[in-house]
Amino acid sequence: MAVYEGTTVTGIAPRRVHAEGGTVSADVVVRATEAYTRDLPGQRRTLLPVYSLMIATEPLPAEVIAGIGVFGGYVVTGVACANLAGRTMAELILETDTERTALPWVGAMARTWEPEPLRWLGVRSSRRILRAADDREFRTDREARAAYRLSRVLRGA
Ligand SMILES: Cc1cc2nc3c(=O)[nH]c(=O)nc-3n(C[C@H](O)[C@H](O)[C@H](O)COP(=O)(O)OP(=O)(O)OC[C@H]3O[C@@H](n4cnc5c(N)ncnc54)[C@H](O)[C@@H]3O)c2cc1C
Repeated sequence: MAVYEGTTVTGIAPRRVHAEGGTVSADVVVRATEAYTRDLPGQRRTLLPVYSLMIATEPLPAEVIAGIGVFGGYVVTGVACANLAGRTMAELILETDTERTALPWVGAMARTWEPEPLRWLGVRSSRRILRAADDREFRTDREARAAYRLSRVLRGA
């Protein structure tokens, strides 16, 4: 099987991938473009990169790192999740039933984001509500219900 690395995909259609060098046809097309998805034609409302919790700096002195409490990576949603998703995807493509293909996230469809300016308003409002909820929890040491209610709205629950 040929693997073409470093090739920019310019568009995806059913069973077709348009790339800089030409078009590829396939029975299965996996779009694994993560936060870059919104740059593909027709995908702007599919995925919304809201913020990054990561920062990059010059190497910091140990006492500075100790002072701000930097942790060495995280595992909740990042590469562990991508690994699980990749293996599950491969099993689905091969039509193999496994404990992974029975997980609740398989087949779950996220709705598209609202058109502008509603999307912009929604993101701005959500961030304000979550920031206020953080402040409140920090002050009162109690769970802020606003954050819970917002998460239900965002999940469409
Ligand atoms: C700064 C930073 C630090 C992180 N640290 C951690 C960590 O410590 N622990 C952790 O678990 N997770 C971490 N993550 C998250 C983790 O990197 C992602 O969850 C994971 O990489 C997602 O994997 P993915 O394969 O879905 O997408 P990605 O790894 O983002 O891969 C998407 C790929 O699609 C390619 N692509 C996009 N558009 C096109 C196009 N048009 N044509 C061709 N190719 C395209 C990109 O070049 C990229 O290679 C971090 C993320 C960032 C940004």
